[in-house]
Amino acid sequence: MGLLPEDLIKALARVRSVGTITGAGISAESGVPTYRGKGGLYDDPEEGDRTIEALSAPTLARDPDRTWRVISALAQRCLEAKPNAGHYALAEIEAKVERFCLLTQNVDGLHGRAGSKNIIDIHGDRLATACMDCGVEGRLTDPGMIRGTPRCPVCNGRLRPGVVLFGEMLPVEKVARIEREFYAHVPDCVMIVGTTAQFPYIVMPVLAAAQAGKLTIEINPEETDISPAVDFTLRGKAGEFLPAIAAAISTVR
Ligand code: NAD
Ligand code: ZN
Repeated sequence: MGLLPEDLIKALARVRSVGTITGAGISAESGVPTYRGKGGLYDDPEEGDRTIEALSAPTLARDPDRTWRVISALAQRCLEAKPNAGHYALAEIEAKVERFCLLTQNVDGLHGRAGSKNIIDIHGDRLATACMDCGVEGRLTDPGMIRGTPRCPVCNGRLRPGVVLFGEMLPVEKVARIEREFYAHVPDCVMIVGTTAQFPYIVMPVLAAAQAGKLTIEINPEETDISPAVDFTLRGKAGEFLPAIAAAISTVR
């Protein structure tokens, strides 16, 4: 018997458009720590469960060095990590179907490095920066070398990380893209991979697809709040199931 149920393989063969939502779990196999749980970001030896506080808008305003300490360590780990079979399988699916969109909560850049193109990185990018004074945007090249708060090359103001911190709004333009990709034209298949699905903007596209009678799939070793709402729950690793899904999807472009 194969990895996927027969009725899922049949359904996947008919799919022409795919929407995928990913969380920290897809990068776990690349060695990037997840958010919660053992070895997760919250286990940071210096910050412990105070990491959430370090990554918040009030801390950035009061003590940006503290926010940068956590961000630069995370960014360095992401640079050292490599995409895994799950990331590559999503890029392969994108190349096969007529329309594909990847909504990710990850800031690790691994989807882009694996070749995915139509990405909505709703929480930003760990290497992006913006000046808190003049607004100029930039990119970090060597995050491991950061000490304190990095300075703007244009005006010498303090830089902020280009990620959405706790207590901050989502970027309006990216929210509009979610609307276009997942609601205006609901994809034939929506997959949710490696996320505890805590945020409404992550859960709603899956529910919208289910309501529209589209194929919905979850890949996660553990049960989550979204599990009861999907057609197929695949209990296991993204790096194992996603290549099987890519193989079952027909080339239509
Ligand atoms: P989470 O840490 O809350 O949950 C991770 C989920 O992945 C869990 O449900 C777990 O069961 C599952 N999982 C673990 N290993 C897996 C595997 N091999 N295959 C499939 N699933 C697996 O993560 P979240 O829901 O994405 O929320 C995390 C938040 O933290 C996001 O807002 C994100 O921006 C941020 N974050 C990002 C990164 C990153 O960029 N890689 C890492 C940590 C946190
Ligand atoms: Zn500046």
